[in-house]
Amino acid sequence: MLENIWERIGHEVDSFTAEIRDVPVNPNVSPAEVRERLSRYTFDSPIGLDELTNEVVELLRSYTVHVTHPRYFGLFNPSVRIAGVVADTLTALYNPQLAVWSHAPFAVEMEQHTLHHLTRKLGFSPATTVANFTSGGAEANLSAVLSALAYHFPETSESGVAALSVKPAIYLTGESHHSFVKVARMTGLGTSALRQVQTDAHHLFSTVALRERIESDVRDGMTPLMIVGTAGTTGAGLIDPLPELSEIAKELGAWFHVDAAWGASALLSSKLRYVLAGIETADSVTWDAHKWLSVPMGAGMFFCRHREAVRSAFTLATSYMPDASGDDAIDPYTSTPQWSRRAIGLKVFMSLAEIGFAGYEGLIDHQAHLGNRLRELLATHEWQVTNETALPVVCFTHREIRDGLFTTSDLLEVLYERGKVWISDVVIGDRERVLRACITSFRSEESDLRCLIDEIEHARISLTS
Ligand SMILES: *Cc1c(COP(=O)(O)O)cnc(C)c1O
Repeated sequence: MLENIWERIGHEVDSFTAEIRDVPVNPNVSPAEVRERLSRYTFDSPIGLDELTNEVVELLRSYTVHVTHPRYFGLFNPSVRIAGVVADTLTALYNPQLAVWSHAPFAVEMEQHTLHHLTRKLGFSPATTVANFTSGGAEANLSAVLSALAYHFPETSESGVAALSVKPAIYLTGESHHSFVKVARMTGLGTSALRQVQTDAHHLFSTVALRERIESDVRDGMTPLMIVGTAGTTGAGLIDPLPELSEIAKELGAWFHVDAAWGASALLSSKLRYVLAGIETADSVTWDAHKWLSVPMGAGMFFCRHREAVRSAFTLATSYMPDASGDDAIDPYTSTPQWSRRAIGLKVFMSLAEIGFAGYEGLIDHQAHLGNRLRELLATHEWQVTNETALPVVCFTHREIRDGLFTTSDLLEVLYERGKVWISDVVIGDRERVLRACITSFRSEESDLRCLIDEIEHARISLTS
């Protein structure tokens, strides 16, 4: 009975949201246990949708690290706003096909409309910018490199990068996102094209080291294709010196890409926007809505000021795709890596429309404030913060970890066993391994930070007594 299913789903949305603080953040489960639960599904006999839905709800509740939990202080996975859940449900129901404009006039225009408004927040001109939704930041970074190749070496479209007499190089640091490793493989540039430049004492892109590296690479027959500045590094939320990198890129005629997958959302806060100064000079930007804009996964964004480069990277013609829509409407399959496309942007459109930019500013400022509070609370409990950023990623350690009394993974093991808070650990700049807590949920409160402090103190004492 369909009515029951929708009542059941509606109930689950409400009750999960209401009860989430009391649910363990993470499961403690073995692969064998999950497989045992799945073994009854032999697909030999049908199961009623009511029963099946109840079971799947139970399995998802039990066997998931709940990234939407207010005490998930983890990777850049946010709590989701209900508007985004509604949008993904409606997208599944209508299943609009966004490969071509003519199949989904509302959805294609809705995405472009939403992206226009975000384009302005970047300081780009909507009139000259091409922007599209992607599966995530990895696809946006791939789009950037393919567009830069089309711009600087249009001949590679046919002859491939192997036929070039120079070797294109991409400059980044050890703190850059590892999606560039896959991008280097997928584009045929090879990972040797990734030139890892030394960072300074603050783990930021060293422009001195960059210039030296480029000089010696050019002598070796390489040519700078792209400089990647990261705005909000995955490990420590650091922001590379964007204006300086932009200047060097301009001087060399290289493409300047800013990977701001998580950090770009700070543009929506008038208090935090300053940290992204220089992003407006980029040739292209990666910005994930599914990180700090609190929508369900699968929502990255790619912005680029070189329309023609993007078109030539992705345009082709077939006999079976409906004719181009004419006018100034672009068929997404001719300007993005994807072919069949879902309406990724609807969850961003609905979330933004529901609370507006002012609503987002409140959510983002709240999380940044909690990041600052966490730094204060750690300091008063003799934990040492090891990174410097205005954004809410806090890396920290303890004298007893530095003295070798226990390791970060010993401590995480105790935390995960108890399931009250979730944090991770990370190595910044090839030095020591430290703990990492990011405020990713707009639901987190001061009491959740106190619980985090209680949990790490409990773990520390149990490991040293
Ligand atoms: C998360 C992240 C990515 C990858 O984005 P996905 O959405 O996971 O594909 C790229 N760059 C940075 C800086 C990130 O934090």
